[in-house]
Amino acid sequence: MSVRKLFLLPGDGIGKETMAEVRKFITAMNEKFGSGFETEEGLVGGSAYDAHGVAISEADMEKALAADAVLFGAVGGPKWDSVPYEHRPEAGLLRLRKDLALFANLRPAICYPALANASSLKPEIVEGLDILIVRELTGGVYFGAPKEIIDLGNGQKRGIDTQVYDTYEIERIASVAFELARTRKNKVCSMEKRNVMKSGVLWNEVVTATHKAKYSDVQLDHMLADAGGMQLVRWPKQFDVIVTDNLFGDMLSDIAAMLTGSLGMLPSASLGAPDEVTGKRKAMYEPVHGSAPDIAGQGIANPIAMIASFAMCLRYSFNMIKEADDLETAIANVLERGIRTGDIMAEGCTKVGTEAMGDAILAEFLALAA
Ligand code: NAD
Repeated sequence: MSVRKLFLLPGDGIGKETMAEVRKFITAMNEKFGSGFETEEGLVGGSAYDAHGVAISEADMEKALAADAVLFGAVGGPKWDSVPYEHRPEAGLLRLRKDLALFANLRPAICYPALANASSLKPEIVEGLDILIVRELTGGVYFGAPKEIIDLGNGQKRGIDTQVYDTYEIERIASVAFELARTRKNKVCSMEKRNVMKSGVLWNEVVTATHKAKYSDVQLDHMLADAGGMQLVRWPKQFDVIVTDNLFGDMLSDIAAMLTGSLGMLPSASLGAPDEVTGKRKAMYEPVHGSAPDIAGQGIANPIAMIASFAMCLRYSFNMIKEADDLETAIANVLERGIRTGDIMAEGCTKVGTEAMGDAILAEFLALAA
């Protein structure tokens, strides 16, 4: 049986507590199903700074590069607010994304029926919502040059950021979106601003050409990104997969995230290009939330975002589709039974802590698999 190499980076604050719940699933799957996970564990963020004086050590970077998948908890906290900028906790996360060349960021926005009332939108608009935002993560205006503030010498300054996309960058992110759509409802909506941006014109052209060349079985629509933001809150269920650039993706995925209620519910995956020999992609899976210093150490954090990130890992890195489906169903069933952490607590439900929530989902997962 093949070995599946996981590198665990719990990080700081509630990252440690939520990763502890994922470890239970890894152990149980190895013992009960012979899943063959091999795990190593490292330090990232403030805990790496305390131990090594950097946000991630070279040794841990090597382990991340050698793993089939990296599971990342969260980094940061007031303790490290004044460390040198290049060693701040987030630098570890950015280094991982850069060195693993993770260009595709996947953020599902799923609204579990039991939580439809927790959204700021009407329940009928979000109930059963299941969309996936595919954001380009390593290009665009966050990285384009020139990027500077220049002194104009007349008492004025000029701030410059540059939006740049090359054909290959658009092709590869579009391909990820089309391939994922084939495993879902087979629909992609591409969002850009071709009405005012040259990079938007090229984005639109390349997505259209990629679709025609390789993915004409998938339904493709185009929408201006501002209209897309509006449609996301008007009738989000019209979408299946949305593909967009780094800047628009940053904003649109946050909008989509809030459709579903709490930060403690949101997983994400970041994928690199497939290896030419093995076909395997480098990948990192992490909750969207941070280290939540306000509740860290109290055993009350919601572990669902971290557990759902592990479900994405099963699906996208190991093609363990049945296990991923079971895990996502287990989360939905536990919520349906009214078991809640504080952040998603509602009247008539049972309030539990991090460990009890993890245990309930694990028991349900094993029951589904039996
Ligand atoms: P945060 O996501 O840590 O917390 C925001 C709010 O949501 C807090 O009230 C927190 O208690 C709550 N929350 C978040 N996750 C939760 C969970 N799983 N269960 C229950 N409640 C949860 O964001 P913040 O407070 O802006 O940042 C705190 C630290 O985290 C900062 O140092 C920030 O830089 C860092 N951060 C790290 C990441 C990351 O590691 N990817 C992402 C965002 C922020």
